[in-house]
Amino acid sequence: MKLDHLSEVLNFIGGERIPAISGKTLSNPEPATGKLLGTLPASNADDVSRAVEAANEAKASWGELSPEVRGFHLENLARGIEENLEAFARAESIDNGKPIAVSKSLDIPRAAANLRFFAGAARFQHEEAFRTRLPGDDLLNVTVSRPVGIAGCISPWNLPLYLFTWKIAPALAAGCTVVGKPSEVTPVTADLLARVAIEVGFPPGVLNIVHGTGPETGSAIVEHPQIPAISFTGGTATGASIAQQAAPIFKKTLLELGGKNPTIIMEDAELDAAVEGAFRAAYSNQGQICLCGSRILVHESKMDEVTSRLQKRINEMVIGDPLEESTMMGSLVSESHLEKVESCLQTARDEGGEILVGGERLSPEGRCSSGYFLTPALIRGLPHSAETNQQEIFGPVATLTPFANEEEALHLANDVRYGLSASLWTSNVDRALRMSEKIEAGTVWVNTWMKRDLRTVFGGVKDSGLGREGGSESLRFFQEPTNICLRFNSSR
Ligand code: NAD
Repeated sequence: MKLDHLSEVLNFIGGERIPAISGKTLSNPEPATGKLLGTLPASNADDVSRAVEAANEAKASWGELSPEVRGFHLENLARGIEENLEAFARAESIDNGKPIAVSKSLDIPRAAANLRFFAGAARFQHEEAFRTRLPGDDLLNVTVSRPVGIAGCISPWNLPLYLFTWKIAPALAAGCTVVGKPSEVTPVTADLLARVAIEVGFPPGVLNIVHGTGPETGSAIVEHPQIPAISFTGGTATGASIAQQAAPIFKKTLLELGGKNPTIIMEDAELDAAVEGAFRAAYSNQGQICLCGSRILVHESKMDEVTSRLQKRINEMVIGDPLEESTMMGSLVSESHLEKVESCLQTARDEGGEILVGGERLSPEGRCSSGYFLTPALIRGLPHSAETNQQEIFGPVATLTPFANEEEALHLANDVRYGLSASLWTSNVDRALRMSEKIEAGTVWVNTWMKRDLRTVFGGVKDSGLGREGGSESLRFFQEPTNICLRFNSSR
């Protein structure tokens, strides 16, 4: 199968790749070069309605299949991705600017793993039953679940295929048909997935992909009366507007939003591992992961050492062409995002922060000389209340803040509007549990970062989201339970 043609992304509706009804397109630049990569459909409500029609037609037959048969189809998609891993990884790096080593080892294998995992998880889902004995009554309560219908799945640009499949896989496994919208900033690998779906004979109409902007295409999905559930991953402001649209029409929403996650290094931490963990958490994927640890909180006795070690690691970083195997940091995702991150750096300066290293545009030699590169920035000297420490930047920017004791570390960790994740570095197991239970976040890693078991719950508290994904939580979101209460008459 040839997947090297990346310039024309199309919608995938009813099993066919087609342009937008209006014929309009959006341009898709390659961030590492600043040159035009290709186009994608500028879909509107008409395209969404067409996708809903296709999803409606396929709904009954897909929903009636056994989990085993649905799993078989999902596994075919997973295999199709795995067999074309090189092509998918290359496309993801070209479209997003991320290093090819990251696409190959993280994004694409995880996309296949998402499909395989939910193919299997649906087979193990069980119904609940309660025998209820009351005076004169003998009851059996059985809760049965059915698919909600058509699922709307909307995903962001930072982990494009990884997060798109994280949404569509449980929806499909739960028996829903899907109208999905990947980010307009990184549409290419979802289009490759559509090509794989055609190749492996994935049932037409079950998975539909509509490309376009959030306000036009995304909003049309959220508003559509025949889509009862929206699973969304993206920014907090977008999540709030989706929640506003969905609430009056009583639409189910699952919202995975932004983060401003702390990395907490206690005085008893094993320092080599902690510094490496803090470095990876701050700058992986150009700092463009919702789980990135952009606030590095360090016990005051270790601050000097952690600071100099982090500076050294930053200076050693190989930044440049995402398609080079040795590249550790690629380009930011777009020119506008680069400008946004630069304006956040200006705010940090205005607030009195000292940029110890990085924060400058970079122009690598060769084909990437006009790309959107920024050297990773490490900032100190800002009060905890500074905007730089409170707002998500979503780029390669981290701050250092000292603390004197456990209580202060917890206060700093929790005193933000977000609550997605945290990583805590300590060699004291009692402290690890004590502190973890007090950190306001959906995930707390102790002595590690970003390790995921897909069976575990995932999500955020406060402004980081609503609801949980992962394992059976993801499947349940796409299902509607009904409790059937059966009365037995034992005297008959
Ligand atoms: P975004 O909110 O701008 O866009 C996300 C998706 O929503 C895109 O497909 C976009 O087209 C669509 N969209 C935008 N406006 C919409 C609207 N009004 N109605 C419906 N859809 C709309 O986010 P982004 O810039 O693509 O991604 C970065 C953000 O995503 C960061 O805040 C990051 O923290 C967050 N994120 C969260 C998680 C998580 O699991 N919590 C994971 C990755 C990224």
